Amino acid sequence: MFPSRLRRAAYRAIILSALPFAWLSLGREAQAQTVNAVPASGARPAPSRPDGVRIAAMQAPKPARLNVVRFKKIDYVGLAEIAAQLEYKVSWNEVKRELTLRNGVRTLVFTTDRREVSCDGRRFFLGDPVLARDSLHYVGKTDYEGGLLAIMRPDLAGPLPSPLQTIAIDPGHGGNDPGMENESLHLQEKVLTLDVALLLEKLLLAQGYRVVLTRRDDRNLGPTKPVDWQQRAVVANVAGADLMVSIHFNSLYPNTRVGGTETFVFTRRGQRSDQSLGAGQTDDAESELVPVNRFDPWSSLFAHEMQGAVLKKLGTSDRGVKSKHSAVLRGLNCPGILVESVFLSNEAEAKRAATPEYRQKIAEGIADGIQAYASTLEALRPKSAWSSANPIPSSPSIPR
Ligand SMILES: [Zn+2]
Repeated sequence: MFPSRLRRAAYRAIILSALPFAWLSLGREAQAQTVNAVPASGARPAPSRPDGVRIAAMQAPKPARLNVVRFKKIDYVGLAEIAAQLEYKVSWNEVKRELTLRNGVRTLVFTTDRREVSCDGRRFFLGDPVLARDSLHYVGKTDYEGGLLAIMRPDLAGPLPSPLQTIAIDPGHGGNDPGMENESLHLQEKVLTLDVALLLEKLLLAQGYRVVLTRRDDRNLGPTKPVDWQQRAVVANVAGADLMVSIHFNSLYPNTRVGGTETFVFTRRGQRSDQSLGAGQTDDAESELVPVNRFDPWSSLFAHEMQGAVLKKLGTSDRGVKSKHSAVLRGLNCPGILVESVFLSNEAEAKRAATPEYRQKIAEGIADGIQAYASTLEALRPKSAWSSANPIPSSPSIPR
């Protein structure tokens, strides 16, 4: 699926030499490719690194500007206009008050006054509800630009993120922060997240990715929880990660009935998080654009693919793609999401999560989600653009 696996391998070798890091690991397959990529002469073809860390993003075509209308201090854009611009067909169901947009690849169903969108049959939560005015339907401009556009037409969602080479895995919690606990089954979230992370690492290494874990044992990454959380993004950034997935297990004690899978993106600027939208919750919108917000479209696409892959693998109920102001994701210099695969507060799900076989399935589901996202991006990358954007230097040194 990549234009040149040899070049990728050589490229990984350069990163390794430039960024020695205790927790980095390189797959056997990748190591073999790195050796094979070195010609007998000792000169090794490798892409240039214009900014020292990341490959320059390619320029994507830009969609025409949409008309913006303002309701209740929120900017909205019309779904009919979006459909026309993105070449989607529109149909309206008066009984269900649903507007369906489809293009043969994706099907999105918007319901009047609701934040929940059905996207390819999966749940995706907008920050603001769909609005109906004078027989026209609107979605929030922020939801469209930072979420829906990349899912509906990723080719129009702005410059593509750098090709996936390094993936950061964050096993949630650790040390004196056990995370959620199921006391009757003696389960601690921090133990399960680390196990899934190590299983996932194996799968990704076998696929040729470079992998960085934010922790490999039972420890905190900082003296306080906020510092611990922030540090996870720092580890990913220092390693030059192209993608981050933070692994968690859910809980809703005292409710022991709820189960299912949720995937979170960092909340888009100016919107309330899903956690703040319950009864009695206060507005937690942030006006500041934080580092990970620059990747909102791609985090949304990644979350949508991840949710689908994990649901398919585990057969869990779909609790949707949602948003939170996660300190783990906030400082990232790449797209990132947080996966809550199953509930430890649900006895049936917790019993499954207690088995190594099921944790392997969770890791496989997450690996499938990464692969689905990677495939979507690679399908958009012109085959020749990678090499033309990264001319081969004459004679780079060989890292060993
Ligand atoms: Zn957690």
